[in-house]
Amino acid sequence: MELPQTERKIYHKANSFVGMRGQTAGHADVANRIEALLKTVVQGDNYHNQIVRTACEDALDLPVSQTRKVKFQLHPHVIEEIRRLNEGELSRYLFYRYRYDVFPVEQKIDDYPPCLQIEPTSICNYRCVFCYQTDASFTSNKSGFLGQMSLDTFKKVVDEAKGQCEAITLASRGEPLMCKDFGKMLEYLQGKFLAVKINTNAWFLDEKNIHAILQSGANTLVFSADSASEPLYSQLRVRGSLERVLKNIRLFRQIKSEQYSDSRMITRVSGVRFTKEQNLDDMDGLWGELVDQVAFVDYNPWENVYDCPKNGMETPCSDLWRRLFVWWDGVVNPCDVDYKSKLAIGNVATSSISELWRGEKYQQYREAHAAQKRSGLSPCDRCTVV
Ligand code: SF4
Repeated sequence: MELPQTERKIYHKANSFVGMRGQTAGHADVANRIEALLKTVVQGDNYHNQIVRTACEDALDLPVSQTRKVKFQLHPHVIEEIRRLNEGELSRYLFYRYRYDVFPVEQKIDDYPPCLQIEPTSICNYRCVFCYQTDASFTSNKSGFLGQMSLDTFKKVVDEAKGQCEAITLASRGEPLMCKDFGKMLEYLQGKFLAVKINTNAWFLDEKNIHAILQSGANTLVFSADSASEPLYSQLRVRGSLERVLKNIRLFRQIKSEQYSDSRMITRVSGVRFTKEQNLDDMDGLWGELVDQVAFVDYNPWENVYDCPKNGMETPCSDLWRRLFVWWDGVVNPCDVDYKSKLAIGNVATSSISELWRGEKYQQYREAHAAQKRSGLSPCDRCTVV
């Protein structure tokens, strides 16, 4: 399928959904819980409590004394996440979510990234038209970019992140279910974080993987699919098959409802809106009965940022204050748009996550972006993420 020859649009990372169905109505219950929490959070100079108090006050739309650039808001998918938390978890969740949403706007960081993205493997069985997996200089066996994370590296990252980062996403450049230790990784994560998300194309979603995912207590499972019919599905998800994926997701739903009825996992089908043929009504019609949410995100030319024209953009990229990526080989990168790690800031084998997050190299990138000089960094000069 041809890539769209459209004018390049700014890609807003803060809320990349361009449509979502299946979200909860009303947030009165969540507001009551936040009100109750606010009464228990002690005022003072404790950093955690200060953030949680501000998050509660903003969420309840209470007047605040400071003048701030942005107020924390409860987006519908965040309300859905909060609804599924236990009472004792709300404070930890708000501490994470406030920093995830507000710090990138205020260009603030603390000791740990609000979100850590861990890549179990960079290998994928698909060749989606909008993905870096179509770049032969990436997927060639000689490129050095392909591999699987060892369980030891994974445990090292998780041990440091536990109690510091609540949001862990398992996925990045490859299909996580292709990692041979994925089941063991899920087992190791259990009970350690409040916002664990897994992204998968569902091709390898067999019974064994389904039980491993449901037993892990992961909070969100995202199935990547962009169409409700063939041939469009496999024109976009090249090497994929709608029939197989549908069968696997139906099996997942059946096992979840029959054997894990108390699971609090949110399931979502999320597609990349790439052509005019795709529409959310069709997607909802097929997937809406199988998962909790159906969504589109906008297309971003992930398939090769390095060949895009320089765009002269000056607006800073918000992800520099939000996220840190750990590749399968321990290399740490600010984003996966830069899938060839030109911006790599180090390796977890020799530095801690916190050192890399606060370190000189990452700080230089933030300063360049904040000073509207992203054009001096490659590939930020060709990327449109803000
Ligand atoms: S390439 Fe630069 S601007 Fe684009 S997402 Fe990565 S850090 Fe942000």
